[in-house]
Amino acid sequence: MSSTALPTSTPVVISISRSYIWLVSAMILALGAYYFIGVDEGATSVFGNSMVVHEFVHDARHFLGFPCH
Ligand SMILES: [Zn+2]
Repeated sequence: MSSTALPTSTPVVISISRSYIWLVSAMILALGAYYFIGVDEGATSVFGNSMVVHEFVHDARHFLGFPCH
């Protein structure tokens, strides 16, 4: 039986302040995705009356069960 060293994993260590940056960035991206997929339509549309964003995420909206039409 051979004794080979197994590769060990080391955890990624980041500081609290850096983790806040990552957490806030992820939260902003998630809220943006949530808004554009689930809410952005009609009067609440960010880009005026154009339905470009709505049409782009339309299948995702239906797949996730957001009310649409
Ligand atoms: Zn629809």
